[in-house]
Amino acid sequence: MEYELISKPGADEFAVRPNLDDYEGTRAAFDYERVIDELDGLPGGGLNIAYESLDRHVAAGNGEKPCILWESKDGRSETYTYADMARLSNQFANVLQQLGVEKGSRVFVFMDRTPELYAAVFGTLKAGCIIGPLFSAFGPDAIRDRLENSGAVVLVTTPKLKAKVYEVRDDLPELKHLIIADHAEPPEAAEGELSWNELMAAAPETFEIVATGPEDPAIMHYTSGTTGKPKGAVHVHKAVLGHYATGKFVLDMHPDDIYWCTADPGWVTGTSYGMFAPCTNGVTSVIYEGGFSARAWYGVIEKYKVTVWYTAPTAIRMLMKAGDDVPKRHDLSSLRYIMSVGEPLNPEAVVWSEQALGLPFHDNWWQTETGSIMIANYAGQAIKPGSMGQPMPGIEPGIIDDEGNVVEPGTEGDLAVRPGWPSMFRTYWRNEELYNSCFRNGWYITGDRARMDEDGYYWFVGRSDDVINTAGHLVGPFEVESALLEHPAVAEAGVIGKPDPIAMEIVKAFVSLKEGYEATPELRRELIGFARGKLGPGVAPREIDFIDSLPKTRSGKIMRRLLKARELGLDEGDTSTLEDD
Ligand code: AMP
Repeated sequence: MEYELISKPGADEFAVRPNLDDYEGTRAAFDYERVIDELDGLPGGGLNIAYESLDRHVAAGNGEKPCILWESKDGRSETYTYADMARLSNQFANVLQQLGVEKGSRVFVFMDRTPELYAAVFGTLKAGCIIGPLFSAFGPDAIRDRLENSGAVVLVTTPKLKAKVYEVRDDLPELKHLIIADHAEPPEAAEGELSWNELMAAAPETFEIVATGPEDPAIMHYTSGTTGKPKGAVHVHKAVLGHYATGKFVLDMHPDDIYWCTADPGWVTGTSYGMFAPCTNGVTSVIYEGGFSARAWYGVIEKYKVTVWYTAPTAIRMLMKAGDDVPKRHDLSSLRYIMSVGEPLNPEAVVWSEQALGLPFHDNWWQTETGSIMIANYAGQAIKPGSMGQPMPGIEPGIIDDEGNVVEPGTEGDLAVRPGWPSMFRTYWRNEELYNSCFRNGWYITGDRARMDEDGYYWFVGRSDDVINTAGHLVGPFEVESALLEHPAVAEAGVIGKPDPIAMEIVKAFVSLKEGYEATPELRRELIGFARGKLGPGVAPREIDFIDSLPKTRSGKIMRRLLKARELGLDEGDTSTLEDD
């Protein structure tokens, strides 16, 4: 089924032409190096994401334009203009300098979606430091692994979240400063802590941005692989070319748009598309601090008259589950263009949204390492429901075989991208070897399996590794297995993704117990609680099965593939490397 996409009838004020209505023409003429002409660069030379996002709009006389429309969990609204955000981020940059934090240092944030989080991210970039956002639902072990690997010297967190940091603070000798920020109630700083409010009140409102160049590191996001702990994908200031260009051509941003990205800044979508793409394009963003509920989400669209909406399949499936009557109770006529990312978007969801919301969801594909959207269904194009779409101009993806040769259209293979685009990750922090292993025959290997059809549309097939995609978040089985092994009852643990109609996959663990422990429902509950306490609810297993022993290769590696096949009642495949019991 195909859709002819046009601006929504009736919403005349938004009946703008798509930024990219001639796909082939734009693709042929596109040059990332020319995109830089549409940005300003630092006044004294160089490039800085925060300057392109905030200060250049102020310099152009647009400082009074709303940058953020913030809605707190309890329904209060606050507006922050581009000038406000430029000032707040200047202050935080001054705070970092006054603390003696040097260019290139890692500054992390572990906070809910409050204005302070946004000020801290942009301020860190202005100070020439590398920002590392942590998802606020992480547990202590997940926090420790990331802060330890990054060698973060500053962490900004909140009174509510800081207890999780204290559980692991002794393991973090490099962490010098703990800044406590609370939007609602300025807290007293305890011993060993610094108060955000006090530091900010004493900080000057102007700041000369530290000279950063296009290749200076700017941001790191941790992402999970099959083996080992999460690794920090490092992006540079030049990534802003990708944020800006995809904001314009894929998210179809126009100056009058009210834009809402539902992703949390703890994940790459929440920074690339929750901050940098909308701000560089000068649009107004809604930031909703609260969690998911169908009524609340439709309420946000109605209240703020959202025109462009970027969300994820798990949320869309939950909206579908909530029923078609809920959207009918809200005026959603402001919406012009809606998009999805993070997991495969079921074709039914596209059909549903056109019928229930009046617009089809446009799927697009990218990942932490790519930094910006690589493949998309564009506003000016027909959608093929179920397909991720076509390449972003300037991007060359390919479906390749084990030798790195491009395969015929229609054939499944590894989804790869020719390196060299601006927002491509430059390394995994302190793990150059792993970074180097991501390339084959001149291609960056994404870890996804896909195929391309005769029309040049890409179709997702699955992951080529054991990484689990739960509610759009990647979880590495090793991280979960390691946490379970710390429990005294656990002898061995193997973790897989079990298919789920809403979250795509849920984390499921198979556990064998040590002598003297009994497989009881109480122990199962205890283990789930134990893992949640260490990793957080989004990462910990939702289901645990006890088994006598885990299938392993002769070299002792747990065969997750076999656990999964058995769980799903599938063919067990090649078991020749299985050890004999
Ligand atoms: P992350 O690095 O956490 O952003 O996750 C990226 C991964 O999510 C990709 O490598 C895919 O496995 C999956 N993913 C992202 N977008 C899509 C999509 N549109 N369709 C299917 N899978 C997707």
